[in-house]
Formats: sequence, structure tokens, C-alpha cells
Amino acid sequence: MSDTFSAAHFRDDSAAREYLERLRWPDGTVCPHCGVIGHSYKTPTPGRYRCAEKQCRKDFTVTVNTPMERSHIALHKWLQAFHLMCSSKKGVSAHQLHRTLGITYRSAWFMAHRIRECMRTGGLAPLGGEGKIVEADETYHGKVEKPRPRHKYATPYTKGGRSGPANKRPIVALVERGGNVRTFHVPVADQASVMKIVYENVARETTLHTDESRLYTYATDFVAGHETVKHSAGEYVRGDVHTNTVEGYFSIFKRGMRGIYQHCGEKHLHRYLAEYDFRYNHRAALGFNDGERAALAIKSADGKRLTYRNAH
Ligand SMILES: [Zn+2]
Repeated sequence: MSDTFSAAHFRDDSAAREYLERLRWPDGTVCPHCGVIGHSYKTPTPGRYRCAEKQCRKDFTVTVNTPMERSHIALHKWLQAFHLMCSSKKGVSAHQLHRTLGITYRSAWFMAHRIRECMRTGGLAPLGGEGKIVEADETYHGKVEKPRPRHKYATPYTKGGRSGPANKRPIVALVERGGNVRTFHVPVADQASVMKIVYENVARETTLHTDESRLYTYATDFVAGHETVKHSAGEYVRGDVHTNTVEGYFSIFKRGMRGIYQHCGEKHLHRYLAEYDFRYNHRAALGFNDGERAALAIKSADGKRLTYRNAH
């Protein structure tokens, strides 16, 4: 631990601010009010700049519009938290952040959610493509807190012939083989919602690999090919057809959630999923190290202000 955090930006607030400025403003200061780059001057207040544009003239710091803005937690502690959450495969509990950073549990809990929000990505290109394989599967986590929507004609979903876990939260995951994962927390895992996810997130030229679940019966309406393995008949791999990648992802998620985040509220589940997705999509096998992963999360902090109200 002491080795990991020996760099000045992990130990000193003003070094942390300079580190953030280098990271977020590689081409000079960016005024968050008018967007002008590299046209500002320093004010007597450390870390505060004033826009030099005639029409603007407003003050700003490097943390404006990020979760660090107006935070009472020192910036070097934020950087430690980003690093911890981006480097441990299974995640870091709010209790551990509370102890490691010497901040209150409540602050640590909120901080972790804001960092998770930074890891959340939107508007992404579709997974897969010509000659590529995307594996799809579902899993269930925890208990549903709210009553599930009733579908008049829907029969209870079953997995592998066993009766469906009616009180658990369905999670659908898509993993491109050798590439990225994308997960979805859905109210019910039925054909309509699963096919909508496939349609919106998988390139049409892709071959989809799944188990024999009837959720994917009409998959070829949306993708070029569909291969299945029959888990109920003991078949797990047939040539290159399998769902081992997506199942491996679920096992990391489940071990982490069980060991670290035992009490995850349903309304926060999408943020935990974003956290696991982020680490997986920037994993070492794809050429990312711990520092790069943390830097990417920090760089996407713009506009992720997440107030206390919408974190609860
Ligand atoms: Zn400006």
C-alpha cells in the first residue's frame, strides 16, 4: 500500500491538483463556461483560473463539473480512491475506503458511487461485427425490492429446466470474444427485453453464442448467425461454440459482489455493473495497467456530478 501511493499526487493536495490539470488539460486550461482552450490566467487563489475571453471572464478550477467539485475530501484522497477502485479486480468496499483514506464511512460510500458514475459509459458503438463472436447470457443477483411488472401472458422464465428465481434481479450480459463486455439490469428477462438489448448493442454481422435458452430463439432476426450449446444435455463446448467468456465475467462479478458489496440496493446495481464492466473493458489483457485505468476514469469525470439526491 505504501509503495502504491508513494507518488506526490497521492500524498499532497496541491500535487494532486497539478496532476489533475496535466491529465484533464493536456493542451492548456479549458474554460468550462465558454470552452476556450489555453486562454486564461492564474488568480491569487491556488488552483483557480480566470478566463481571458472578453465575453466570459469567469473563474474556474480543474474540478468544475466533476465529482470532485466542492468536495470536502482532499484531492489526493480522491486520486487514491480512483486508483484503488480501478486496480482491484473485485472492487473496494466503502468500509475499506473509509479505513484507508481516513474519511467517514458516509463520505467513502458516496465517493465510491461517484467514481462508479465516472466509469459509466454511454453512446457506445455496437459490439461484434463481421467474423466476430458475441456471447450472451443472463444471471440473477440479490433480491428484487420492488414488485416485478406483471405480464398478462408471460410464463415464468426457467433456466436449464429449473424454476426461475422469481425474487432475484435479472442481469443480461453481452461479451465480444477478445473484446468488451456490456451488462444490463432488466426488470424481467423475457424474449422482448433480451432481443431489444441484442438489437441495440450487437452489430448485425455478428455471430451470437448462447445456451439453449428460449430467450434467444429469434436471435437470427437481429444477427447474422446464432450458435447454441446445450447445457441441459451436458454440452459446454462444441468447436468454438461456448459461453465460457460471459460466464467467466459473471463469476468475477458474483465473487466481488458477494465478498465486498453484500448490501447493494437495487437502484444502485447499474452503477456496480458499470464498475465491473469498466475494469473488464480496460483489463491488462487489452493492454491497460492500473494507472492508465485510473486516468481514464478520471478523464471521463466531466459532467458526472451526481448529487447526493440522485445517488440515493
Ligand atoms: Zn471562458
